[in-house]
Amino acid sequence: VLQQNCEIQFCLALEDPIGNPLSEPGIDRVRRQDKGFSSPAWSINYIENVIKPNTFWDPNRYFNIWVVDISGGYLGYAQFPNNSTLGCLNNNNGGASTDGVVLLYQSVGRPPANPYPPPYNLGRTATHEVGHWLGLRHIWGDSNCGNDCCGDTPTALTANFGCPYPQTTCSSVDMVQNYMDYTDDNCMNLFTVNQKNRMRTVMQVSPRRVDLLSSTVCGSGPPPTSDFYDWSHKHL
Ligand SMILES: [Zn+2]
Repeated sequence: VLQQNCEIQFCLALEDPIGNPLSEPGIDRVRRQDKGFSSPAWSINYIENVIKPNTFWDPNRYFNIWVVDISGGYLGYAQFPNNSTLGCLNNNNGGASTDGVVLLYQSVGRPPANPYPPPYNLGRTATHEVGHWLGLRHIWGDSNCGNDCCGDTPTALTANFGCPYPQTTCSSVDMVQNYMDYTDDNCMNLFTVNQKNRMRTVMQVSPRRVDLLSSTVCGSGPPPTSDFYDWSHKHL
């Protein structure tokens, strides 16, 4: 079977960094005006240098996801893990105060909670960026017929958009269904075995990722249950 259950689950934090209960589990709403931040457009430079360092929660206990109005046409971006031991990754990809994922607000969730039009309204931007945060590269290896260090993702000429299937580049059919392509949300539905193994390695060895395994901020209730929904039924 190509499509893998990655066996990594997330839970919504029930308490803030000083132990107070969150009124909305997993959510900390910040008005930048109230914090005295400058209020330019939401460039990546501004997010990295102003927003993140002034709003992050201890990434040894929390996985930080900033949901903002990113400028410049980006759907999202992520910080890669450090010291993962994996190929296709540098050892140092950034510090604690910027660790996590940034998402364009229109890309978060799925209907009815997400009221925005297709094609990026089914939550796959978060899936893609969390893939990066757990050590995955784009399936085209960020160069023409490049290497993503996963032998079970076919080489591809470059990023795909829309849902071009079937399409052959670099002598193989592109895996447009992979979350680490740039295809539409309703085109994506899989991580592979090699991608799963990379992500699980990161969870076991990378600083901050491995510490999350013993975080107690989700409380002591039952473990989270998966909420998978496969929006793509086109070509598996
Ligand atoms: Zn990406």
